[in-house]
Amino acid sequence: MSDESAVSLRQPRPALEYPCGEPPAPGSATEVAPGVLWLRMPLPFTLDHINLWALRDGKGWTIVDTGVQSNDTTSAWRSLFAANGALGQGGLERVVVTHMHPDHVGMAGWLTRKFDCRLWMTRLEYLNCRVLVADTGREAPEDGVRFYRQAGWDDDAIEYYRVRFGNFGRMTHALPESFRRIRDGERLQIGDHEWQVLVGTGHSPEHACLYCVELKLLISGDQVLPRISSNVSVFPTEPDADPLHGWLRSLERIEAAVPDDVLVLPAHNEPFRGLHARLRYLAQGHRTSLARLRRSLETPKRVVDVFGTLFGRPIDHPHLLSLATGESLAHLNYLVHRRDAVATRDGDGVLWYERVNRDLAAEVGA
Ligand SMILES: [Zn+2]
Repeated sequence: MSDESAVSLRQPRPALEYPCGEPPAPGSATEVAPGVLWLRMPLPFTLDHINLWALRDGKGWTIVDTGVQSNDTTSAWRSLFAANGALGQGGLERVVVTHMHPDHVGMAGWLTRKFDCRLWMTRLEYLNCRVLVADTGREAPEDGVRFYRQAGWDDDAIEYYRVRFGNFGRMTHALPESFRRIRDGERLQIGDHEWQVLVGTGHSPEHACLYCVELKLLISGDQVLPRISSNVSVFPTEPDADPLHGWLRSLERIEAAVPDDVLVLPAHNEPFRGLHARLRYLAQGHRTSLARLRRSLETPKRVVDVFGTLFGRPIDHPHLLSLATGESLAHLNYLVHRRDAVATRDGDGVLWYERVNRDLAAEVGA
C-alpha cells in the first residue's frame, strides 16, 4: 500500500512556494494559520512521513488524518496529548479521515476510542476500509491471482502477492463500528470556521479534501501533493475500473472550486502555494503518458511490457511490480474505455493490448 506513484513526470515542474519552513518533529506542532496546527508522523515506508492537521474546535480539537498504526506513531500522539504537549488541553472533538489508506486511517480507531469521539469519513472510504481490514488473515483470493496472471506476472511474483495479501489490517486499528458520513459539498463548522468537503476519486474511491474560504486553506490529503504524483491504480477487486478518468476529472473540479491563492496543506511534502499550476502539471503528465502508451501499442503488449514506456525507473522489486501493474492498468483501461485500445486474451489467459487505429487518418492529417 503506497501513496506514491511509480510514474515519473518528464516535464519541467512549476515553481511552487513553500512558506511554512521546516516540518515539525513527530510529537510537536507548527501553527500554519490561526488555530490550525501542522503535525507530522513517521511512516515505515520509502515515503517516510505523513502530515496531519489539528483544527481548533471549541475547547478541543478536530484532527484530520491519523498516521499508520505503529509504536512510533502512538508515542508521537502521546507526546502531543501530554500535559505540556501541543494538544494537551481539551482533547479531541472528532476525527476526520480524508481516505482509507493506512497512513491516513491507521490510528483512527485508537483515537476515537481514547477520546470517545466520532469518526467522520465519506461512506465509500469507510466501507472499503472495513472490507480491506476484514481481508486480513484470509488467503489470497483466486480472483487476485487471475488478475496478476493476466497482467503477465510469473510464479515468483504471484507467490509474493500471496504472501503479502491482507497486510492492510496489520497497519490499521479496528475502525469504530459506526461513523458520521460526510458528503461532497457539505459544509462542516469546525470551531470558528466553515470547511467545505470536496470529494475526488482516482487515488481512492471517495477521497475528501477540506476547503476553508475564510482561512484560504485547502487540506488536500493525497488528492494534490506538491512533489509526488499520487498512485492511481486498478486493483484486483475491480479489474475493469477506469480510475484515471475519475482522477483527471477530480483535478479539473478542484481547479474550478478552489482559487489559486490558497495555502495547500498536503498529506506528504510541505504546505505550498501554486495549486493551479500543480493541478495542470499533474494532469498533463498523465496525458503525455497516455499518448506515449498509445503509440507503443502499435504491436500487442502485456501489462508487464509497458513499464518501460510509462515509468522512468526500473521495476526491480516485487512491491514496485504491483504498484507499476496497477498504474499501467489505470492507463491501459483508460484507453480501452475510450476504444483507443483493445485487450485480447491468449491461450494462457494473459491479456494483450493493442492500439485501435480508427482515427489514423485524422492523425496523419494533423
Ligand atoms: Zn493515499
